[in-house]
Amino acid sequence: MTEPGPAARYRRFSDYLKTRFGGPVRKLSLDAGFSCPNRDGRVSGDGCVFCDPRGFTGRALGTPAALEAQIAGQIQKGQERGIARFMAYFQPYTNTYAPVDSLRSTYDVIRAFPEIKALAVGTRPDCVDADRLALLAEYTRDYEVWLELGLQSIHDETLRRLNRGHDARDFFLAVEAARRYPELRLCAHVILGLPGETLEQELATARALGALRIEGVKFHPLYVVAGTVLAEEYEQNLVTLLSRGEYVQRVGSFLEQLWPETVIQRLSADCPPEFLVAPTWLSEKSAVIAEIEAWLKNQDTRQGKKYFS
Ligand code: SF4
Repeated sequence: MTEPGPAARYRRFSDYLKTRFGGPVRKLSLDAGFSCPNRDGRVSGDGCVFCDPRGFTGRALGTPAALEAQIAGQIQKGQERGIARFMAYFQPYTNTYAPVDSLRSTYDVIRAFPEIKALAVGTRPDCVDADRLALLAEYTRDYEVWLELGLQSIHDETLRRLNRGHDARDFFLAVEAARRYPELRLCAHVILGLPGETLEQELATARALGALRIEGVKFHPLYVVAGTVLAEEYEQNLVTLLSRGEYVQRVGSFLEQLWPETVIQRLSADCPPEFLVAPTWLSEKSAVIAEIEAWLKNQDTRQGKKYFS
């Protein structure tokens, strides 16, 4: 009998994209200049405790020409490595936080690039309303569209502790509203090892996402970036971070509870070493992913093993 490979134990995004588009797809990480209501004072001026405040001052929507240059440069680099298909990912801050007309003219820049096959938009659950969902649904005629929602945890006490400025209900309402458009794919961002959260609380988040049959999940461990509120708390010993082994086990246990069809878009994070305070093991991303895959194999378990619909 053939031993199932690591990919068989969870639904890896790269495999999903290859099957869906007939070859590898590279994400273009795009910064269109969007701000965030949890930074500019609309929700709060302080931001989430883990959020790096650098780069917020004077943020304004960039010009279409500047965005085009970002896209063209990254496509060229990808093509030099033999990649033919791309996903435009509006990544930093809150990429639905602007008037709908501005959003349309920003997203429309991708239409000049036939190599782009998919669109991903990262945002907060409280910045998604009927008009923005209708706009994103327009793009599903020509692209696969992913709406990425920063959730982190379904526990309101944790969200308050993080100063997220939204609650779990905002997330559930955003998902419910987005389900009006079945072709829109949803991805939840989750952080493991949040202050005060137990494994059982994290598994409750996993079960909630499983019940929603969320199409995608991105994980990373809580990590500390220089200059953040979290960095001050860490210095004062107010925060304990997961060890690498604990993180591996928590991701594996989370995966067991998820819907088997959920695509796992990310298993850990990248942080430039000059900004990373802790944990140092974050910078060994490939090794951490290999350990998660080994954990699944050693436990003879897989994504969705404990999923109950
Ligand atoms: S919602 Fe995102 S961009 Fe806004 S403060 Fe929190 S982490 Fe930063």
